[in-house]
Amino acid sequence: MLFGFQAGKKAATERANYRMNRIPHQVIEEIRNRCDIVEVIGTYVPLKQRGSSYYAVCPFHTEKTPSFAVNPAKQIFHCFGCGAGGDVFSFVAKHQNLSFYEAIKVLADRCGVELSHQQQTSQELARLKEREQFFAINELAADYYKQLLNKQEGALAREYLAHRRVSTQCVEKFVLGYAPSGWNHLLQYMANKGVAPQKLLQVGLIIPRSKGAGFYDRFRQRLMFPIYNAQGKVIGFGGRTLDDEQQPKYLNSPDTPLYHKGEGFYGLNWAREDIGKSGSAIIVEGYLDLITAHQYGFTNVVATLGTAITQAQVRKLRQWAKEVIIFFDSDTAGISAAARSWALFLESGLRVRVAALEAEGDPDSYLNTYGTSGFEGCIGRAVSLLDFVIEQSIVQSKQNGIEGKIEALNKILPVLASINNQVERTSYLKQLAERLNIEEGVLLQELRKVVESGRRKIDKPASISGDTSGSATQLAEKMLIQLMICYPSTQQSALSQLQAHDFTSAVYAAIFKALQEEEHDVEEVDVTALMSRLQDEAAKAFVSSVAMEHERFENAERVAIDCIQVIHRRRLKTKLSELKELHRKTKSTADTKPLYECDQLMKEMKTGNFPATIKPT
Ligand SMILES: [Zn+2]
Repeated sequence: MLFGFQAGKKAATERANYRMNRIPHQVIEEIRNRCDIVEVIGTYVPLKQRGSSYYAVCPFHTEKTPSFAVNPAKQIFHCFGCGAGGDVFSFVAKHQNLSFYEAIKVLADRCGVELSHQQQTSQELARLKEREQFFAINELAADYYKQLLNKQEGALAREYLAHRRVSTQCVEKFVLGYAPSGWNHLLQYMANKGVAPQKLLQVGLIIPRSKGAGFYDRFRQRLMFPIYNAQGKVIGFGGRTLDDEQQPKYLNSPDTPLYHKGEGFYGLNWAREDIGKSGSAIIVEGYLDLITAHQYGFTNVVATLGTAITQAQVRKLRQWAKEVIIFFDSDTAGISAAARSWALFLESGLRVRVAALEAEGDPDSYLNTYGTSGFEGCIGRAVSLLDFVIEQSIVQSKQNGIEGKIEALNKILPVLASINNQVERTSYLKQLAERLNIEEGVLLQELRKVVESGRRKIDKPASISGDTSGSATQLAEKMLIQLMICYPSTQQSALSQLQAHDFTSAVYAAIFKALQEEEHDVEEVDVTALMSRLQDEAAKAFVSSVAMEHERFENAERVAIDCIQVIHRRRLKTKLSELKELHRKTKSTADTKPLYECDQLMKEMKTGNFPATIKPT
């Protein structure tokens, strides 16, 4: 059913519709009305109410204390840390990495508003359709592998699962499957279902033959693990070999439009809720570590799938957890990985501890040997990440004499250098000097070198573009837009004296233009309506920041007039220098017009009598 709307709306609305690729403004408003911003954002980020707003740790930058705010009355969000902000559509677009139209589609689906196909550009529609198709193909493949696990050819995989003591409930829960040996079973199955090889290629399920035309199945004779995103959709696969000769032991989907290595975790869809409840997440490496942990009741476990922890992953976890417990291997690679992840965790403010198994093997085999209480013991004995790095580096250095010491220092000193607390740093240094039997003074010297050379630059969040605040003009532009939003009474003078092209910043120009299209004699600016007229994300973010902060001005009208004058003066100056340049060029032609205009402008600048008639350059 097509969502019905009456025609006959204001011209301004029509213009906005046109810009919005013909999704009628009313449809967008309908979706907005049905999708409460607190509810929508709450499904992605845990929100806590404080006063009239809701707060969370920002999903768009790394931070320790929540500066991400959602205002239910205004239906907007804004992060005071990184400046991200906007309405419910902006949030979904930004968070899910979608275009504005795709975000509208997602929210329309959510609240049951049907968009007619003409309301989206064919390109957008095609992309969306394709994405859904990819999910559907993956779902189909997962189902195919699952079926085969229970058939005759799946015997080897079932045997393996039994050997690893994976319960039937877990086989079901994690939708485990079997990819048969042979080159084109999946290809054929999909062909029968009408799925073209080109699509399978795009989701990484097949590989083109190196010689000649055609393709072959990527996953062959493997135990299959579908990888889900946090929302529970299949984005990729992992396959474990069942033949010891076959390499690699674990094979994952390549990067596809749906799957990006190192971006998420395996199992977050199953662990998300319990991580949120308990505030703590346990990170293991492999599929089976995760599955076994869940089987033993540790339902807050996610898996990295063997890659080093990335900033994107830390950020994702930070949304749900306060504390992270990592099972790192005690080998060299594991210690290096732990040392590298230290900085990421330090910035995030997540408490992080490292758990070690006191016996050889993976968490999975450990659990099967020592059970729940054994595993709980390991978690209880988990040490801080820093202690782990130092301890393990020292243990290893002992085996390699002087070289070992240097290697250990190379791992530890950068970590120590990133500790801001001097007391803590000195205490670790003392400990290290003692353990490595190196003079403390020498260590301190080395540490200083590291601190000076490698001081980590914490990336400053990108400020709102256009808000360079350096020049007086930009400050005036910013303030004026701020005033026009917070004090609608200032709009009249600004709108009558300025044009969008008078602004040097594209962001403020866009907002000015959107304000032109609003109704002017209002008591309060409808922030969400204003945002829906804006397509530029930076402009939306600015509007949300202004609406959230609502700076008080003593004499708004007076300040607005001052701002208008500054903006005008800049325009006049630019125009003047252009005319002078023109005059210089046309001197020979005896054209006196530029000269005359110059004169007029100079007079205007002196009187401060600014007409609204300056033509755009
Ligand atoms: Zn932020």
